[in-house]
Amino acid sequence: MAAETVFTMDTSSIKYGPGVTREVGYDMKELGTKRVMVVTDRNLSDSEPVTIALEALLAEGIDAVLFDQARVEPTDLSFKQAIQFATEGQFDGYVAVGGGSSMDTAKVANLYATYPAEFLAYVNAPIGEGRPVPGKLRPMVAIPTTAGTGSETTGVAIFDLIEMHAKTGIAHRALRPVVGIVDPNNTRTLPKMAVACTGFDVICHALEALTAMPYNARLAPASPDVRPAYQGANPISDVWAGRAIEMAAQNIVRAVEDPSDDEARGQMILAASFAGIGFGNAGVHLVNGMSYPVSGMVRDDVPEGYSSDYPIIPHGMAVTLNGPAVFRFTAPVDPARHLYGAELLGADVSGVDPADAGEVLATTLANLMRETGIPNGLSAVGFGPDDVPQLVAGTLPQHRVTKLCPRPFDEADLERLFLDAMTCW
Ligand SMILES: [Zn+2]
Repeated sequence: MAAETVFTMDTSSIKYGPGVTREVGYDMKELGTKRVMVVTDRNLSDSEPVTIALEALLAEGIDAVLFDQARVEPTDLSFKQAIQFATEGQFDGYVAVGGGSSMDTAKVANLYATYPAEFLAYVNAPIGEGRPVPGKLRPMVAIPTTAGTGSETTGVAIFDLIEMHAKTGIAHRALRPVVGIVDPNNTRTLPKMAVACTGFDVICHALEALTAMPYNARLAPASPDVRPAYQGANPISDVWAGRAIEMAAQNIVRAVEDPSDDEARGQMILAASFAGIGFGNAGVHLVNGMSYPVSGMVRDDVPEGYSSDYPIIPHGMAVTLNGPAVFRFTAPVDPARHLYGAELLGADVSGVDPADAGEVLATTLANLMRETGIPNGLSAVGFGPDDVPQLVAGTLPQHRVTKLCPRPFDEADLERLFLDAMTCW
């Protein structure tokens, strides 16, 4: 088979601005909807963004029904609950207000209510059947309240498959929201640690998109409809990912330290959307792939400021704890790109020997993590060398993302990477 010669850029429409949440009524009316499922999580049911969204929908005469049971870090069970609600509710449109968890829950509820199937039918192979979405879904608008996942721009929904203790997902262009409403007012009340974790999710998505296997190193698809959403690094994703790294690096410390810093917060939520456009078209690789078992194997950690009645390692934290180790490993394949990433993060790379590219990027990332209060590696969130075999076993099925790692790896490499990730500085 021939190498891929094509790349595409798909994204949701984006509306950005303080207060723009109130336009959701107008948008859903324009999209022709009359009865809408509004998806959020319990922590947000009485929050300002949800209240404003509901009022805006009602003001346009749209029947808006609140579903506030999206689980923070969703599971197959919590998805199934939302699917049931969506199926019984006969909705013709969806609005998600919340973090990636609420947005991903709305995507999946929309999918299975529109095209009913066994749950594993659309789930990524090899865990599920990886069946493509049969057609268009009902219109969905996403209103992020964290500056992290970029889920408002992507066709990806991530969850924890309970019996396997592993995160996996459903990925298809048809899942993408029609509009992402990006309103910096909606991140005002985030706890410090959530600002830090979601900020590093942005930075890692963008660094992974930048350093992923190039699109033309993949094989060409048999037909255009099976071209993956995650295509590998390409000239368009480079633009969005590069700018996202720079914006996030320049603003993350300010946004963490001072929640009243409107400018820094606005830049962070915009950077999340930019990174979403970058990785939504290029993909992520080993940093995200290794994060899934880390989150899945959490024991008793609840980070400061998170109100959760079950232990969680937030996605962004699980991701960035592996970041320095992975970039040290992948840099030899393309030192120039890794040095460019370090420069965008704020490092002075003049005169740096290309052989040191991985170390420079890893150190720059680790320094930012330390400055914002992220724990020092996997050992600081309860993992030790004895956990490595299980962490490796949980990474191997993450084929959808890890196959875009620019450097081939085997189980022994993964073992070394997890050991290296035990401490970051
Ligand atoms: Zn992520």
